Amino acid sequence: MEVETTIIGAGVIGLAIAAALSKQDQNIYVIESNATFGNETSRRNNEVIHAGIYYPKDSLKTRLCVEGNRLLRRLCESNQIPFRMCGKLIVATSEEDVIQLEALAARAKDNGVKDLDLLSGAECRKMEPRLRAVAALYSPSSGIIDSQCLIRHFVAQAGMNGVTFVYQTRIEKVVKIIPGQYAIYVVYPDGEKERFTTRRLINAAGLDADRIAASMGLDIDQQGYRQYFWKGEYFSVQWPLSTIRQLIYPVPEPQMTGLGVGVITDLSGRLRLGPNAIFMPNRAMDHTVDPGRLEDSFNAARRYLPSLRREDISPDMAGIRPKLQGPGDPLRDFIIQEESANGLPGVVNLAGIESPGLTACIAIANHVKGLIA
Ligand SMILES: Cc1cc2nc3c(=O)[nH]c(=O)nc-3n(C[C@H](O)[C@H](O)[C@H](O)COP(=O)(O)OP(=O)(O)OC[C@H]3O[C@@H](n4cnc5c(N)ncnc54)[C@H](O)[C@@H]3O)c2cc1C
Repeated sequence: MEVETTIIGAGVIGLAIAAALSKQDQNIYVIESNATFGNETSRRNNEVIHAGIYYPKDSLKTRLCVEGNRLLRRLCESNQIPFRMCGKLIVATSEEDVIQLEALAARAKDNGVKDLDLLSGAECRKMEPRLRAVAALYSPSSGIIDSQCLIRHFVAQAGMNGVTFVYQTRIEKVVKIIPGQYAIYVVYPDGEKERFTTRRLINAAGLDADRIAASMGLDIDQQGYRQYFWKGEYFSVQWPLSTIRQLIYPVPEPQMTGLGVGVITDLSGRLRLGPNAIFMPNRAMDHTVDPGRLEDSFNAARRYLPSLRREDISPDMAGIRPKLQGPGDPLRDFIIQEESANGLPGVVNLAGIESPGLTACIAIANHVKGLIA
């Protein structure tokens, strides 16, 4: 079989790319190892529409987040995909935090996020009576989305445009035949193997993206594509629905392994604490939540929510971030790389697509479309 475009992975990124490319191209296959779409990181996250506050100005994370925020809201509005711009408060609980908050506000402004307000502790309490903070940065262009509905929208759009979805099919390796023609080796659940060829390949395999890039013969350490797994655990808060209506985040740690343990609401008003950031040295696909870590998240949240009681929270779920940043490493950007310079024209590798990947998905898809045009 000869395929024009193969997309590895039916997560929100692979699906957004399939929906975007299929507007003009044909003979597109999405290959997914699970029995259905959106079953990995794309359904294990905060579902937050980020504004683009945290990352350096010229990074893809900022550019694609700011652009993605705008495009996502427009898509949701015109396709009845549930979302709510509930706003976000980034809270300072000490005077040192306030200095960081001011630096964050300056960075956000530089990033083109110009609608932030620096609130006093009293103003925070007016907005969220349970909150205790010295000050907070209020972001009205942060929100939440029904990510499963978004994913189903991309599947439907791509399907209507003729994209073929192949499930329960794991890509083992990719081998260059000649530049612009690649052999894809797949394995089915019963162990049977098959091979087909493709002219273009988009590697949106999430946690497996670096392994697939390595199978093409790329040196993932030299290229900086090696991914490290960082689990993010959540704890549900048994408070009445909508007790807190905004997203609450602390000031992030300087290394940004995560954005810190926040209080995240979903569209139903349910509250969760999280996510923490636990380095997983053996890269295990372990989505369990360790009750032994409840205390840490509880203590983190108590700093700004003093009425929270230990008995209010219980283990919920976890997601795994595919980060390019190992322990102690500096912050890294997304990698979205067309590989002509490495002798693999028509191949695009995406690595380190952690947060704000969900927010940025449409902008990422447009970016990939531009790279292979
Ligand atoms: C804890 C946590 C919180 C987050 N919160 C937010 C947030 O609030 N806002 C935000 O914008 N972003 C957030 N993110 C980031 C966001 O969830 C991701 O950027 C996004 O889901 C990545 O989507 P993806 O399609 O790249 O990966 P995935 O959803 O993992 O999809 C990859 C797909 O590829 C398939 N696959 C892998 N290997 C193979 C193979 N060999 N063969 C075939 N198929 C394969 C997998 O089965 C999977 O379905 C968060 C992430 C985490 C972990």
